Amino acid sequence: MTGLYDNHNHSQFSFDGKNASVESSARAALECGLAGLCFTDHCDFFVPAMKASYEHLIPEQFDIPAQQKEIDRVQSILPGIRIFKGIEIGLEEKSRDRNRKLLSEHRFDQVTGSVHYLDDTDPFWGGYYKGKDWKTAYGHYLETILEEMSQLQDFDILGHFDYVARYAPYPQCSIFYRDFPDVTDAILEYLAENGKALEINTKTYQDYNGRTPELDRNILLRFRELGGEYISLGSDSHCPERVGDKFGQYAEFIKDCGFRYAVHFESRRPVMEKI
Ligand SMILES: [Zn+2]
Repeated sequence: MTGLYDNHNHSQFSFDGKNASVESSARAALECGLAGLCFTDHCDFFVPAMKASYEHLIPEQFDIPAQQKEIDRVQSILPGIRIFKGIEIGLEEKSRDRNRKLLSEHRFDQVTGSVHYLDDTDPFWGGYYKGKDWKTAYGHYLETILEEMSQLQDFDILGHFDYVARYAPYPQCSIFYRDFPDVTDAILEYLAENGKALEINTKTYQDYNGRTPELDRNILLRFRELGGEYISLGSDSHCPERVGDKFGQYAEFIKDCGFRYAVHFESRRPVMEKI
């Protein structure tokens, strides 16, 4: 894993980061041979009522200055690893203005845009899949990504495009290019034309109650065909043990699809690293 960067990690500053800390995850990254990592703590301005009442958290924001100060502290004691300041901002219709405002007020190395909530529901806690077959549920999620990322524009990496498949109740547990060619093309075209990165989120490809989503290589091949250059690796870690998880395997996967580099961001600029 030498030379790779994990661009998607959560720390104690995320609402669900109680088992992680900037320091423990940075130490884990150093131990497993990564060149660097970025902390992308959650910021979702709108949280569906069903979840908000469960977790008493509306909205899910983090203390950006405190997170960045802690990153500076840990960076100063761990010079062997590069630590970047990021955010995972929730792409969501009612949050558009607040997202734009927040991004204009802070400086980050990297901004990841992700859809966590849609239709006032949370795929993780349920509700979203009710009354939908797999094709409708996955297709609508992809269309929401397309709409919301083109609204925001101000981001570097599209986070976990196949998140919706992780917690779905259907036997069909992966998003294949052949099932959604039009909307997938539109997403990949947008990323390619605007110099944004497609994230390979390795948390998605693990067992969820006997279902293991897989990454469809046709999506990466199509991204390349459309001129896409930037592939970002992210573990979506919420504990130090998962930092860099499956990176060896997915670096090979990316290589097999014809990409020679992965990307990370420094001061919002893409930097390529050989894989
Ligand atoms: Zn996420």
